[in-house]
Amino acid sequence: MLLATTVACTRATGTSAPSDSASDRPPASAAPSGGGANPRFVGGVVPLTGAARHHVRAMNWHPGCPVPLSDLRLVRVSYWNFDGDVRQGALVLNRKVGRDVLWVFRRLFRARFPIHRIDLAPRPHPIDWDSTRNLSSSFNCRDATGAPGVLSEHSYGWAVDINPLQNPYVRSDGSVLRAAAKPYRDRSRHRPGMIYDNDVVVRSFARIGWEWGGDWHSLKDYMHFSLTGR
Ligand SMILES: [Zn+2]
Repeated sequence: MLLATTVACTRATGTSAPSDSASDRPPASAAPSGGGANPRFVGGVVPLTGAARHHVRAMNWHPGCPVPLSDLRLVRVSYWNFDGDVRQGALVLNRKVGRDVLWVFRRLFRARFPIHRIDLAPRPHPIDWDSTRNLSSSFNCRDATGAPGVLSEHSYGWAVDINPLQNPYVRSDGSVLRAAAKPYRDRSRHRPGMIYDNDVVVRSFARIGWEWGGDWHSLKDYMHFSLTGR
């Protein structure tokens, strides 16, 4: 079961992420509102405790993973969904990158970039051709896609996947992992939630020094951003 992220959020302070001055002020209100003309971003970086820690320990982490639970943080963010509603989501990230990624999601919120759902990752599972899951998430101690025995960068808490349905993993032969992602192989047709070269998502992650899987050469992982470029 995924964690319901309706918890109250703290506001972000002291970020070391790139500054965009006046437009980067922390929110003044305590809760987001989808009804107003200009809803505020609400987010923060907090220790991984309680139900979130329990979820990660049960689903995404085991002894032998490269990052101890104590080095993980819960990053709470506001986002716009595809219906134009403001939602709250949570990402689990390495403590080294929590504030940088919070900064990125604040930018995506301001740009009203639509995200289907943000929540903690499910248990690592085999590729399911019929799956229509469309979850944006981060930490998961698991093998890299298509590389058994090689740890994914998600295992370190410094990788994020966004809208995996609209931004599929495309093998070098052009095939995708899920039937539902086939309509999104053609990257020349821009549709909501897709990530493409030099858009607000790519530019924002580039500002914190992260690289995009859509820039890989042999295969493409359009949903994937990471600190290491892997
Ligand atoms: Zn990924």
